[in-house]
Amino acid sequence: MTKEKIQKIIQEKVYLTPFIDTHEHLCEESERLEKSGNDDCWMDMLRPYLGDDLISAGLSMNDFERTWLPETPLSEKWNIISPYWNFVKNTGYTKAILISLKKLYDVDNISYDNLELIQQKYLELKKKGFYKTILRNFANVKSCQVNSLAGKLFCETEYPDLLMQDISFVPMFADTDSVLGESIEGFSEPTGIKVNNIDDWYTVIDWYFEKYGKDAVAVKSQNAYNREMNYERVPKEKAAPIFLKRLNKEKMSPDEKKQLEDHLFWYAVDKATEYNLPIKLHTGYFAGANGMPMDRLRNIPGELTAMCINAPKTKFVFMHMTYPYQNELTAIVKHHTNAHASMCWAWIINPIAAKNFLKEFLVTAPASKILTFGGDYGHVEAVVGHAEIARRGITQALTELVDEGWLNIEEVIELIEPIMYKNAERLFSRTI
Ligand SMILES: [Zn+2]
Repeated sequence: MTKEKIQKIIQEKVYLTPFIDTHEHLCEESERLEKSGNDDCWMDMLRPYLGDDLISAGLSMNDFERTWLPETPLSEKWNIISPYWNFVKNTGYTKAILISLKKLYDVDNISYDNLELIQQKYLELKKKGFYKTILRNFANVKSCQVNSLAGKLFCETEYPDLLMQDISFVPMFADTDSVLGESIEGFSEPTGIKVNNIDDWYTVIDWYFEKYGKDAVAVKSQNAYNREMNYERVPKEKAAPIFLKRLNKEKMSPDEKKQLEDHLFWYAVDKATEYNLPIKLHTGYFAGANGMPMDRLRNIPGELTAMCINAPKTKFVFMHMTYPYQNELTAIVKHHTNAHASMCWAWIINPIAAKNFLKEFLVTAPASKILTFGGDYGHVEAVVGHAEIARRGITQALTELVDEGWLNIEEVIELIEPIMYKNAERLFSRTI
């Protein structure tokens, strides 16, 4: 069979197969519908992550921030961006947006001439039910798993079959998270529990799991943005007096702060494990620009293996392909029963690395332990472009595996449903 023929067969199956999208930051559809006119600008889609590339290419943060303001006219927004556009139009971040614009609004590129037209089409498509239309009809996504950034630990969604929800568990153990950086008082307030010591704090954590544990699909932490991932099992005797210091707003040393976080991290992880909720962890590359500590990232693979050993019953999902340590991730998932690889966000960070990762993973580790898609976007529109890049990459990886003689066509066809949705269905069904 020629390579073209192999590709055609695989492509057909990959494009017909829906994804379970295992990571998004979508707000509720009704929140989007409430925004109108200039308050909801299509260019907001560029903020994550294309904006990071623009800043890397030299656009100043101050100028970029002006493109977020509703009062800035579209032409001025484009004035700010366009000098840098040619420098970034090659990247996955940009391609995802351009593909979305093409598929949703039938525009081929961005120019002064079509800024208003895109805005008009963007607002036209935004009607009740547009989340479902875009996800199912344009992105062929069956359902999403949402990590809400609405400042709540768990979002009780209006579309529970379409937008499954993660519990954002960072405030249970850390006081550094910018999105959910609640004080002890703020976080315990909805529970009605007065926190006087660490036992009360355990009760608060338990309350959240009791309330949301059965509806959630997983728990999620992006705490790797704030610290190392070397969470140690610190005993309660050590953590309890430090908790009192935090409660009384006394100064904690960096070591004390770490010990308390470590202890509470494991308390929350063990509790999630009782509920059979997988633990999704941000690993690898940082969103944003000019702030990624590569020395810390380098240690992550070792920290992940320590975690797997520390909690053999816990199912870990290591997100973002741990880029640029995806080879290490393959080794971790191959070796540890409780480790799973998620390629969310990865297809647009480095599409070719993602393709090669998938290709190598499938001849290295059990195929049941990989989740191949998560858009990682706040805008549902942008998921369309990301899903297309992922399908291209999956098609290419599988085609190469057959063409190079590693697997035969029947074998790769059999892998498509598991890697695109069945693995996710099984892992997050919480019945295993
Ligand atoms: Zn994310």
